[in-house]
Amino acid sequence: MNQLNKCNLCESTNLEFVDVIHDYNIGFKGNFNLYKCKNCELMFLNPQPSVEEGLKYYTSDYYQKIDEGSGIKKIMKNFSFSMQKFYAKNPSIFKILFPFSQYVRGIKIIPKGRYLDVGCGNGAFLYNLKKLNPSGEYYGVEPGNFDEEDIKAHGLNVIRGTLEDAHYQDNYFDVITLNHVFEHVPNPSETMKELKRILKPGGILIIAVPNCNSLAYKIFGKFFYQLDAPRHLFHYSDKNLKIYASKFNFRHKVKMRYGAFWDQITFIVSGLHWISSKIGGNLWTGLHEKMAKGNIFIIMIYGFLYVALTSLTLLLNLLKFGDNVEIWMRK
Ligand SMILES: [Zn+2]
Repeated sequence: MNQLNKCNLCESTNLEFVDVIHDYNIGFKGNFNLYKCKNCELMFLNPQPSVEEGLKYYTSDYYQKIDEGSGIKKIMKNFSFSMQKFYAKNPSIFKILFPFSQYVRGIKIIPKGRYLDVGCGNGAFLYNLKKLNPSGEYYGVEPGNFDEEDIKAHGLNVIRGTLEDAHYQDNYFDVITLNHVFEHVPNPSETMKELKRILKPGGILIIAVPNCNSLAYKIFGKFFYQLDAPRHLFHYSDKNLKIYASKFNFRHKVKMRYGAFWDQITFIVSGLHWISSKIGGNLWTGLHEKMAKGNIFIIMIYGFLYVALTSLTLLLNLLKFGDNVEIWMRK
């Protein structure tokens, strides 16, 4: 375990204990301390599991092969791919078509561009990008499990390990993306320094994380689904991301996008965690297991809640209080 004595972002030593949190999402045993910097409000686990200790808190099926899917899954995937394609080619028209934009991960199409996805999992995002922009080169790093044969068969260059293990050249990439990865890294400032080094001048860095300056966090606090202890080591607000951008001298004008696929799920699961804390047990892990086994009754209730919460989450994203945030910065 690593003890932090100063804030990773502003280096203040004025740190405050917030609460003891648990792994409500998967159910690994343990008590984890949530801390907050009183100067910049960055939150983090303290002490933190090391990279090796941390890997045991991921389930073995966390990553799978790139799955083209079949039936309804294939239709959904194709729909989301068409949205991504349309967004990449017509960003301004797409914005007018809000509310759909919250579900599309930010990308920039650069012919012959060199792309890196940090924490790329099974490589599905890179593979989609490759389909959108076949002349590009696609790289990834991933410390967890992935299927090497499958990655190679899809024409991607993925290194097993951390970003620092990869030792990429200076000024190498046109676009670097981190989708819900920055909250898992042990030293975000070191990661930012490395990202800046390997990004070309004028290159784009896109980071998406859960947002603690969200209504969901304000309502549910330690039961907020996206605290995801102990897998998430740092918990950011949109303001924290902007401070990271200026700390590492990225160009002043940054772009923010609020919202993601998880927004409705956050409300459902955080609510279940809160109820569980009152009545004991863990409602979410039980229900999740039933859904995975295809319990149609539970799936229908879940689906109903998901649809019912959609207008609330769309409104929150518009008001910049959504529980996911993505920042675009330029070197
Ligand atoms: Zn701070």
